[in-house]
Amino acid sequence: MYDTHAHVNFNAYKDDFEAVLKRAFEKDVSVINVGSQLSTSARAVEMARQYEKAYAAVGLHPIHLEDMEVEEEHANFTTRREEFDYHAYRELASQEKVVAIGETGVDFFHTDGEDKIAKQKQVFVEHVKLANELALPLIVHCRGKKDNIGGAYVDVLKILQEHKPKAGGVMHCYVGPAELLKSFLDLGFYIGFNGVLTFDKTGTVEKSLLATPLDRVLTETDCPYLTPPPFRGKRNEPAYVEYIVGKIADVLELPIDEIKKKTGENARALFSI
Ligand SMILES: [Zn+2]
Repeated sequence: MYDTHAHVNFNAYKDDFEAVLKRAFEKDVSVINVGSQLSTSARAVEMARQYEKAYAAVGLHPIHLEDMEVEEEHANFTTRREEFDYHAYRELASQEKVVAIGETGVDFFHTDGEDKIAKQKQVFVEHVKLANELALPLIVHCRGKKDNIGGAYVDVLKILQEHKPKAGGVMHCYVGPAELLKSFLDLGFYIGFNGVLTFDKTGTVEKSLLATPLDRVLTETDCPYLTPPPFRGKRNEPAYVEYIVGKIADVLELPIDEIKKKTGENARALFSI
């Protein structure tokens, strides 16, 4: 199995990351730790160097473009504004076992103001350039305003259509409208599913899974967030990706082993593992 979007590189695991990774590896889960700023990206690269089944993605998350208070399950934190330093990220991304650029994209949930939104889009385009320069796929984060979730997806789609990521990518944690899904698939993108699939009561995410060909489905946890049952309310970790695999098997009415095999092939194909 593959957890294609984990953050064991975050502070939430600073005291026990070794045990957390060990529990994943014991379940035969390979882990892609995804950076959110230069420091966490560097930490992901370091973990990839240290552990055979760990890989890294490097990027500057849109919420780190400004100072703000962020409230998430198991992690309330203050972000410190970071400027995107193309050369620093390029150097980091050129290291061994860096398999993607990200996470990058837009986050309007935490952001107001046209200038801030314009800045997010501009930095996102820089990430696409970097991914194309290094022939790496993109890990895209997209979060809209509560009352306009689809709007952010329209903006991201437009940027991807204009700037064409050569090595493709993944729409991580896809919660957009099912009608837009086809456009992302047409761009060659994969779709990342995580705990939201297990607890989304609107049924939107399940609908999106049913509309995604199995050869484009990726499994992820987005740990420490989005913990699936039976551990809902606790800190998430890569070993729990088995509950995502199980839920996908349920929804698609296919054997778990087949989901493991197919999503594993997908992860290896996109990230050249
Ligand atoms: Zn993430």
